[in-house]
Amino acid sequence: ADADAAAAVPERVSTADGRPIEVAANVGSEAEIAPAAERGADGIGLFRTEFLFYDRETPPTEAEQYEAVTAALSAFPDGRVVVRTLDVGGDKQVPYLDLPDESNPFLGRRGIRLSLDEHRDLFETQLRALLRAAAHEHGEGIAVMFPLVSRIEEVEAAVSAVESVAADLAAEGIDHAVPELGAMVETPAAVFLADRLAERLDFLSIGTNDLTQYVMAADRENDGVAAYHDPLHPAVVRAIDRTASAAAGTDAWVGMCGEMAGDPALTELLVGLGLDELSMSAVTVPAVKQRIREIDSDAARALADEALACETRAEVRDALGLDGE
Ligand code: PEP
Ligand code: MG
Repeated sequence: ADADAAAAVPERVSTADGRPIEVAANVGSEAEIAPAAERGADGIGLFRTEFLFYDRETPPTEAEQYEAVTAALSAFPDGRVVVRTLDVGGDKQVPYLDLPDESNPFLGRRGIRLSLDEHRDLFETQLRALLRAAAHEHGEGIAVMFPLVSRIEEVEAAVSAVESVAADLAAEGIDHAVPELGAMVETPAAVFLADRLAERLDFLSIGTNDLTQYVMAADRENDGVAAYHDPLHPAVVRAIDRTASAAAGTDAWVGMCGEMAGDPALTELLVGLGLDELSMSAVTVPAVKQRIREIDSDAARALADEALACETRAEVRDALGLDGE
């Protein structure tokens, strides 16, 4: 019965003038899958696989990861499920992985950096599970996303890891498929390389939690610099614009899965900046969907241009009709 409730077909939304925007949910635990479907999310825009590694003593097996991901796919039989490969390091610690002890963990070995190096084995196990899940009856919707990309070489290496896992599975006679592949844009390097990333990948997803931290040089967890860690600073708005514009001339779609995506007061700005997909915590899905239905794309673009002309956060807030601070 639970599975039936979760499989209810969500109502897709478009702007008032007919531009479709995908509204998806961020999922950080198994328990968040069903509520995401119940709130009407079109799919999952960020499936945080880290949760599969927490509260245990050894990494999850390929079979466990396959089960978890196919459960998510089954909850969204017609939707997309964007699975992020393991993103540990920085704020996300897993004791048994023996992550390096670093004086600047946010500038250290995190995300894809670990997957391509000391945790290559975990990366390959995870890719095996994901490529097998892509051959599941609802596997067509799966997409795989690499976190903390900052170099084209990382994308090349990650894509060749996918190809080599596919070749292994083929040699073993195991059912599999190659999913859509994408990168998170959450470093300034990825913003500057967004045109090239978009040429090589199927999609980009902007992670404003980290992107704001790195653009503004302000720790996402330090209350002392909370005023700096705000995606409405003009530099961050411009970084989002640059990313969306860079992808606009390619076949890649661009989404956002940072906290910013879930604030209905910012939806018009994000639509105006050209995002195709917004992924957020499930509770905000209905409000953001409602907001999208009211938006006129041309007015949204004009609002984005106005925000892009601002010099200060206060001016951006004012342009959006938000109060000063
Ligand atoms: C982000 O950085 O914006 C993001 C979505 O990833 P996380 O918050 O998990 O680092
Ligand atoms: Mg991040």
